[in-house]
Amino acid sequence: ATPMSVMVGVGKAAEFGILIRQGEALQTSSKLDTIVLDKTGTITEGKPEVTAILTADGQQDDRILHIAASLESGSEHPLAQAILREAERRELSLMEASQFSALNGKGVTAIVEGQRYRLGNRRWLESEGVTVTLETQSLTDKGATPLFLATDTSLLGVIGVADRIKEDSRAAIARLRDVGMKVVMITGDIQASANAIAKEAGVDEVMAEVLPEDKAKKVKALQQEGRIVGMVGDGINDAPALAQADVGFAIGTGTDVAIESASITLMGGSLHGVADAMAISAATVSNIK
Ligand code: ADP
Ligand code: MG
Repeated sequence: ATPMSVMVGVGKAAEFGILIRQGEALQTSSKLDTIVLDKTGTITEGKPEVTAILTADGQQDDRILHIAASLESGSEHPLAQAILREAERRELSLMEASQFSALNGKGVTAIVEGQRYRLGNRRWLESEGVTVTLETQSLTDKGATPLFLATDTSLLGVIGVADRIKEDSRAAIARLRDVGMKVVMITGDIQASANAIAKEAGVDEVMAEVLPEDKAKKVKALQQEGRIVGMVGDGINDAPALAQADVGFAIGTGTDVAIESASITLMGGSLHGVADAMAISAATVSNIK
């Protein structure tokens, strides 16, 4: 590869809003055969909204939301933001929460009005001894993530939080498949919700319920099968996987940690940037020969 042709390619990419931090990434991009996409904030907008609240017997919507928002006030997770926005919309003022803690890939817990509450996914609450009785298929079928609110012993309700896919994600993913890429979606979210989003986005392979620390392991496993992997992500959770991939693509509106771990930044946040980068890479590499 001549430094000159790489410079031209890097400049061309910049015109498309693709910032290439390492010249090598430009050359590797044309060799990729697998693209792993994070779900939240990468395929989807990353601005989830509360779409439904299901209550256990004797419970009220607003009460569930009020406790949930009070628990989430210490969290920066996009799911927390959705709950806090909905509480604000309903003019519920937050209650004081003490002994707050956020557990990666699980949820949040704190004491409100002298009572310990947990808000998070089913797997975590069940592991804490809560019996989950509510049916959530009506939520997950639409791609919403169910968040369960419980005391130490009993379930109070479920909040469904849903995120829209970016308007061009489906077209961009179709382009990647057209050039022969195996496209995989990876997420910490549950299988049912992930499947609904994958279907809408046109992704045929889904890795769900992947703990944050395991995303990089999944990328490595693909590489051990002989695949050359591009990883696209936006979150702190995605940083190790972005670094592990043959080429890491960070969403420009994502977290700084993700951007620093990736060799390419997609400024506009559109997944078309991945296919564009691959096309520019192919042109650059063929000029080199
Ligand atoms: P993703 O890969 O979608 O960014 P995370 O690993 O951040 O997912 O979270 C996985 C799951 O853990 C969420 O779908 C949710 O069930 C639960 N969770 C994580 N953080 C929170 C939170 N602040 N409040 C409630 N649930 C949470
Ligand atoms: Mg994300």
